[in-house]
Amino acid sequence: MANQSVALLGLGTMGAGMAANLLKAGFPLTVYNRSRAKAEVFAAQGARVAHTPADAARGAGVVLSMLADDAASREVWLGNDGALAAAEKGAVLVECSTVSPGWIAELAEAADARRLNFLDAPVTGSRLQAAAGQLTFLVGGSEEAHALAAPVLEAMSKEIVHLGPTGSGAKMKLVNNFLCGVQAASLAEGIAWLERSGLDRDQAIELLKRGAPGSPLLASLSARMTSRDYAVNFHLKLMAKDLLYAAEAAAASGVDLTTAANARRLFERAIASGLGDEDMAAVVEPLR
Ligand code: NAP
Repeated sequence: MANQSVALLGLGTMGAGMAANLLKAGFPLTVYNRSRAKAEVFAAQGARVAHTPADAARGAGVVLSMLADDAASREVWLGNDGALAAAEKGAVLVECSTVSPGWIAELAEAADARRLNFLDAPVTGSRLQAAAGQLTFLVGGSEEAHALAAPVLEAMSKEIVHLGPTGSGAKMKLVNNFLCGVQAASLAEGIAWLERSGLDRDQAIELLKRGAPGSPLLASLSARMTSRDYAVNFHLKLMAKDLLYAAEAAAASGVDLTTAANARRLFERAIASGLGDEDMAAVVEPLR
């Protein structure tokens, strides 16, 4: 049943795939993106294009956002013409971006002050999974808000995991990306080393893929690093952001993520080399 009207704020790498699947499922969809050209693409497919986040949220039963970071989320929900103040009574707001648990707590409080339902629901899966409707949603929030948003999330996902109260999704996502970021950084160093070691790099990578370090991330990233294909699945600068948020969130629990700090240094070095808007696989380039 696709009769709930939906607003989607943010049509980057991930939001674009999510919008396509919401339209495919038949939801009446309004889209907003800061750079309007990315939204216009969806007008031809039947979406209404809103000029502001507030305009998008008006009349929507479910308002989703898929934005870069805390600052983008704050701007779109609470800034001038922000979505939160315009959301309808009874609406459920769903923050799908990877943001900090601290910001989620603040946003949830602002939603609560207006008696709006709120979920944090960041995702695993990347560009291809977003396009294929095969994301996994990591959900934090009440059972009631979860039940209201579930039909909409189902249209974009293979799995929806309700982890607990508000903030649970954000925390789980940062643990996930902490492990991914550290593995990506160590793989970059490993590949740089292999390329200078005298070993056959490609033979060595095949062995690693089949061995104990092998993982879906190692398989996909090693292919992009060796072919130097940096078409964006995940902007490099976003991994630096995730490692920072992970370190801050872990520190709040009294845990020092020393490996996150070292991994982040590599991503920051790549950003300083002008690679922030490339795919995260480009983290290997400054090491070559
Ligand atoms: P992206 O392609 O970089 O898109 C970022 C979006 O945020 C764009 O719509 C951008 O608008 C908007 N934005 C940035 N700063 C803004 C601001 N100050 N005000 C308003 N809008 C702003 O990112 P993405 O890959 O779609 O990722 C979106 C979120 O999902 C991020 O939190 C990311 O960490 C997370 N995520 C990504 C992946 C992945 O593999 N790509 C996987 C899981 C989770 P413009 O178009 O105007 O720049």
